[in-house]
Amino acid sequence: MIAAEQIIYLDNNATTQLDPAVIEEMLPFLTEYYGNPSSGYTFGRQVRRAIDLARERVAALVGCEPGEIVFTSCGTESNNAAVNSALHLDPNRRHVVTTAVEHSATRRHCEIVAKRGCAVTVVGVNGDGNLDLEELERAITPQTAIVTAMWANNETGVLFPVEKIAEIARRKRVLFHTDAIQTVGKIPVRLADSTINSLSLSAHKLHGPKGVGALYVNKRSAFKPLVIGGSQENNRRAGTENVASIVALGKAAECAGAALAEENSRVRAMRDRFESGLLERIPNAFVNGDLEARLPNTSNLSFTGIESDAALVMFDRHQVCCSAGSACRTGSLKASHVLRAMSLSSERTRGSMRFSFGRFNTDADVDKALEIIPAAILKLRAMSPPTPARETAAV
Ligand SMILES: *Cc1c(COP(=O)(O)O)cnc(C)c1O
Repeated sequence: MIAAEQIIYLDNNATTQLDPAVIEEMLPFLTEYYGNPSSGYTFGRQVRRAIDLARERVAALVGCEPGEIVFTSCGTESNNAAVNSALHLDPNRRHVVTTAVEHSATRRHCEIVAKRGCAVTVVGVNGDGNLDLEELERAITPQTAIVTAMWANNETGVLFPVEKIAEIARRKRVLFHTDAIQTVGKIPVRLADSTINSLSLSAHKLHGPKGVGALYVNKRSAFKPLVIGGSQENNRRAGTENVASIVALGKAAECAGAALAEENSRVRAMRDRFESGLLERIPNAFVNGDLEARLPNTSNLSFTGIESDAALVMFDRHQVCCSAGSACRTGSLKASHVLRAMSLSSERTRGSMRFSFGRFNTDADVDKALEIIPAAILKLRAMSPPTPARETAAV
């Protein structure tokens, strides 16, 4: 095992370190307070109260009412539940509008929905990763059940104008869901004044544990559950609550809210220093995605003349953790669907890397990364000069 102190963790969009305050808050619910929150005696009711507090904390972070928060097993389940609900609400609406750059938690689900006989329209993006809102509006038909579009892209950090999309959907009388799993905890979210019908979030992207998430469902929006059984979560998500994880998500939300303003600018400054440092030191390096409408923590860069999975191996030797744009899964040659949707050249797609910062990164991490990464990229370029034959390697 590699000790965490030795690594330079620049992969906070993949998952994040647990906040020690979160662990402290959740532990008693794994040991002492094991009652079932649905039980009628005090030993159960005190657990129910801990869940209620977590619900209030999550609601406070996204600016909604506690009753609008449904706890789920992960962000993926939240996304699945939103689309599933829309398709079950009205049997005449058998059409989903989505985008070309969604996380697999939406993309794969939409593919299955299409195989089962629903129509799915995928709206594309331009070279900066931005949506054409007129194209999105034209995609909506009287048969459309739901529009689902992510708020912040997990690969590039590009932010979609979700309030504008929500407004279009409202005008067309269609539900709008947003995957805000990379957004919540990173930038302010206030759902009270919004026409977004549902929104997904996940604990492990905001310094909480893996395996717990939430779905915001606007109190005026109808909802059909995905997981059916007991009456937990006000009949919106059956199954005995994952109490310790829900408590942890609540604490993580509280910590994220308290740190948001300060962390937003500190993380942005680290990301910007890192990014401009690499651009200075490495010729033929490019930033992918809109520079303005972008999360403060994410930097997606392409280095021409290298393969990103080879760079990943090289960085790994120096304990730098980040993500490769191509070959997302080890052993697969597949290039990122996000960068392909942006019509980037195959060379730029193949040499793309994602670096994502978080609350536990320091300026020392940036300093070390700025020593290790340029040297590794220049070494890789020296080892494998580009040849035309490699053009065929991209899928
Ligand atoms: C991580 C992530 C998911 C999946 O969330 P899980 O909690 O890991 O299931 C979905 N969408 C986006 C944008 C993500 O970053």
